[in-house]
Amino acid sequence: MLHAAVHEAHPDIISMCHAHTVYGTAFAALGRPLEPISQDAAAFFEDHIVIKDEAGQVAVEEKAGLAVCDWFKGVKAAIHQNHGLLTASRHSIEAAAFWFIALERCCRQQLMVEASGHKPVLVPPDRARYSREHVGSEYIGWLHFQPIYGHLVATQPDMFT
Ligand SMILES: [Zn+2]
Repeated sequence: MLHAAVHEAHPDIISMCHAHTVYGTAFAALGRPLEPISQDAAAFFEDHIVIKDEAGQVAVEEKAGLAVCDWFKGVKAAIHQNHGLLTASRHSIEAAAFWFIALERCCRQQLMVEASGHKPVLVPPDRARYSREHVGSEYIGWLHFQPIYGHLVATQPDMFT
């Protein structure tokens, strides 16, 4: 339901990733956005949304799926409260895949920082935007996936059989 609704509402989105990963799902339970605690996290600064529980049982309710895709416009990622992570690309499958991996890692990093009990120093908004523009683009996502793909091809050749 979710994937179909997003693709229908946003024909410019050519690829979406969604999974219930350990850190992403744990962070999603907080119902909060990522903070710009690093350059990696800044790639998502003002470029992701938190979908609150109004979305309901999105996987089974078509109406909820449409609500989700309404919120998904113009950003490359979404943290779905009490559910998991989503990324989308208007450029390539590779970019959606890399930004999914990166988002999961950012959720892990923020959880680790918060677990330290110390308040993180945030990247200022103007610098976070600069980082997002330079290291958070569709092209950079595509580029970062190339060595991952190469590693998969080299280590898991049966993937193609
Ligand atoms: Zn799901």
